[in-house]
Amino acid sequence: MSTMKAAVVRSFDAELDVTDIEIPTPGPHEALVEVRYSGVCHTDLHAARGDWPVKPTPPFVPGHEGAGTVVAVGDLVTRVQVGDRVGNAWLWSACGECEYCETGWETLCPQQKNGGYAVDGSFGQYMLVDSRYCPIIPDGVDLAAAAPILCAGVTVYKGLKVTDTQPGEWVLVSGIGGLGHLAVQYAVAMGRRVAAIDVDESKLALARKHGAEVTVNAATEPHPSGRLQELTGGGVHGALVTAVNAHAFPQAVGALRRGGTVSLVGLPPDQFPLDIFTTVLFGLTVRGSIVGTRKDMAEAIDFFARGKVSPTYTVRPMSDINAIFTEMEEGHIDGRIVMDMTA
Ligand code: NAD
Ligand code: ZN
Ligand code: ZN
Repeated sequence: MSTMKAAVVRSFDAELDVTDIEIPTPGPHEALVEVRYSGVCHTDLHAARGDWPVKPTPPFVPGHEGAGTVVAVGDLVTRVQVGDRVGNAWLWSACGECEYCETGWETLCPQQKNGGYAVDGSFGQYMLVDSRYCPIIPDGVDLAAAAPILCAGVTVYKGLKVTDTQPGEWVLVSGIGGLGHLAVQYAVAMGRRVAAIDVDESKLALARKHGAEVTVNAATEPHPSGRLQELTGGGVHGALVTAVNAHAFPQAVGALRRGGTVSLVGLPPDQFPLDIFTTVLFGLTVRGSIVGTRKDMAEAIDFFARGKVSPTYTVRPMSDINAIFTEMEEGHIDGRIVMDMTA
């Protein structure tokens, strides 16, 4: 039996255990990937804490922004071969046959498996991927920089699409963390004008660096929604909420222009009050958005490969995972942390 190092969740109230576990064997449609880098998403922290109503079952290995090289393939694999550079994703696999899969909404498939949640993920030196669903990473791009695209990038790219905004219109990005700092860049690349809101001045500086024209600090501005309405000449046409704080959600709704759409993407384990009167009279749309399809993923990777978006990230060893989670909880991370799985 050969083993690898991995960061394992043993229970929702304990630190991750960086330990030796068995290297898995690929099934017929699966590929074994030697993981070189893995981004750390706030979802991994929610997973490790059991924050959400549907919980993963410990022990498990989190991580759904893993990037590496295929080292073995199952008998029925045709889409990738040994030596190819691939990643894992939150949408690890879907059934391919239900009404959602058939209509371009595989992200809503009730039979889907989620990477680093239902299936062991990329916080290990090796991982399995479903060859029919794994993102393919083009030659010539930096693998560490590619990792954050595999969840943060595709999620905000899709979330921006479903705001139904047009080039030249305003979008608000709420929460300028791993997801949000990429959302600013995708929105700019898609021709939108960007407003940003966060509770931390350094995050807002990052948003401006990546092209936000207008920023509001929700911790110091007494009326964030009204201020955003003023600064955008009557409100934003669309908003994408990535913040991990329930207060950010009604603030984003309140910043919308009449007829505007807010995409909810952040997943704090809370509720928020939705004002019925303004939602009805102003014709607002409030919708959820969950990662992206394989097609969205290929498009999001293509924006990155063409240099239109460029993640801000810091490389750290896997042995830092518990410290990284603490820094994430305290809001001290600039962009993304990408773990070097060989260090
Ligand atoms: P992150 O920790 O990197 O960033 C969160 C950001 O929110 C930080 O910049 C923080 O300062 C900011 N914030 C906190 N309180 C705020 C407030 N009141 N107003 C505005 N900003 C505030 O997290 P991340 O990795 O970017 O993930 C964000 C959320 O998105 C998580 O809940 C994660 O689970 C979720 N997520 C959802 C999807 C999806 O498909 N829907 C995909 C990936 C992640
Ligand atoms: Zn994620
Ligand atoms: Zn399906």
